[in-house]
Amino acid sequence: MDFLPLFFNLKSRQVLLIGGGDIALRKARLLKRSGVHLTVVSHVVDDELKALLIDSQDQIIIGEYHAELLEGKTLVVAATDDHNLHERVHYDALERNIPVNVVDTPALCTFIFPAIVDRSPIVIGISSGGESPVLARLLRARLETLIPNGYSRLGSLVGRFRNQVKATFGSVNERRRFWEHVLEGQIAEKVFSGRHDEAEALLEAAIEKGETGHQVGEVYLVGAGPGDPELLTFKALRLMQQADVVFYDNLVSAQVLDLCRRDADLIYVGKKRDDHAVPQEGINTLLVEHALQGKRVVRLKGGDPFIFGRGGEELETLKSHGIPFQVVPGITAASACSTYAGIPLTHRGYAQSVKFVTGQLKNRKDKLNFAELVHPNQTVVFYMGLHTLTELVDGLIGHGKPAETPVAIISKGTSPDQKVLTGTLADIAAKQYEAQLVAPALIIVGEVVTLQDKLAWFGDRVEEQAQTHALGMINTGVE
Ligand code: SAH
Repeated sequence: MDFLPLFFNLKSRQVLLIGGGDIALRKARLLKRSGVHLTVVSHVVDDELKALLIDSQDQIIIGEYHAELLEGKTLVVAATDDHNLHERVHYDALERNIPVNVVDTPALCTFIFPAIVDRSPIVIGISSGGESPVLARLLRARLETLIPNGYSRLGSLVGRFRNQVKATFGSVNERRRFWEHVLEGQIAEKVFSGRHDEAEALLEAAIEKGETGHQVGEVYLVGAGPGDPELLTFKALRLMQQADVVFYDNLVSAQVLDLCRRDADLIYVGKKRDDHAVPQEGINTLLVEHALQGKRVVRLKGGDPFIFGRGGEELETLKSHGIPFQVVPGITAASACSTYAGIPLTHRGYAQSVKFVTGQLKNRKDKLNFAELVHPNQTVVFYMGLHTLTELVDGLIGHGKPAETPVAIISKGTSPDQKVLTGTLADIAAKQYEAQLVAPALIIVGEVVTLQDKLAWFGDRVEEQAQTHALGMINTGVE
């Protein structure tokens, strides 16, 4: 290790900054965040930098650096483009045992600034020892996405109750168990989801009762998106990574499941059409049972849990058992598949509105309101419509939708196996009979489908494949 990471308390300390340009400004901003009094020396000082130094104890010296300026300083930072000056500052500081940083010159530094993830009071510093600041910044960007902003509020909450917990729990082990219970469980979740008062009340109650374990667990109804794991939300990922048990159905891709906590129990509850591994009521009961055991239960659903996902029904059961829950929206198939197929659902001049409709016609008391679905200037997206394609097409044409209206079927959208078949209401059923695209598949009806020619960017188009195939056959003489 070339540099030892230390966190410096610089409140009200004097720091000397040599330089008045852009880089000096960035360093000044950072230093001011830690509460220093700053002396800036430079021949020219940026207006923005001047505006930053409003504290009566800050100072701007327009002029030349000289070693006496180091008197009484805790740190010194040099950020000019004058290498000779940088060397002088370095040696002057060494002589006086003052830590020195010279920008972009690790050899002249006795300390360096790490890339920072700031969730004060939690702060993470990342250093490449000056070898590759860009790599450190990339890593920081990764951490930024993994660590919710709520860590800042959680850190403050813990800070406020630290002494009280110390007084309540005698041993270090008890305290550790208590804080693990708080930081990995419901109380932390309340903080992350913005329910501070509830979090504080729970924490007070837990301290009072001397609780170090779970009482009732919590259920997270999480939208897993359409398949591509990169389309998960940060929140979905965070909850998946702290689950004790995960209930998932067939729309959840293997790559998404892979991102659940390694130790979590993964339980398949089915739900292909006509194949309900566990019926809906059974799923509702399972969620309740596991939560009552104090577990963190993730109910992972394809797409968005509130769009044809029966998410609401699961929540009603939880609510009636008094089990706390959170719902995380996901990217629904209509949005994801149309985007990945290059079909903007409400392209200006083509469609003013879009409807999401279930194509599941079996066991339905109400038939689809086709009269409403045939209006011009709208896009209609059918979920669960592949097996009723002919009925849907007949219904639309029968109610006056022009037979030449463009239609697309998107199968396994956003996955590497995505396939898009386009046609018109008149010929799409025959084309699908040929192509045999598989579920899950989405059907998009409307003029916007024609944009796919120009905007397709991901996966295969079935027609192109079919044509190449046909040409291939001619070339080899099989025809
Ligand atoms: N809650 C889900 C929808 C569940 S209904 C969501 O918001 O997306 C199941 C239907 O969603 C399927 O029959 C299919 O029409 C559609 N669907 C889900 N994922 C899909 C995908 N990757 N590609 C195409 N259609 C998909």
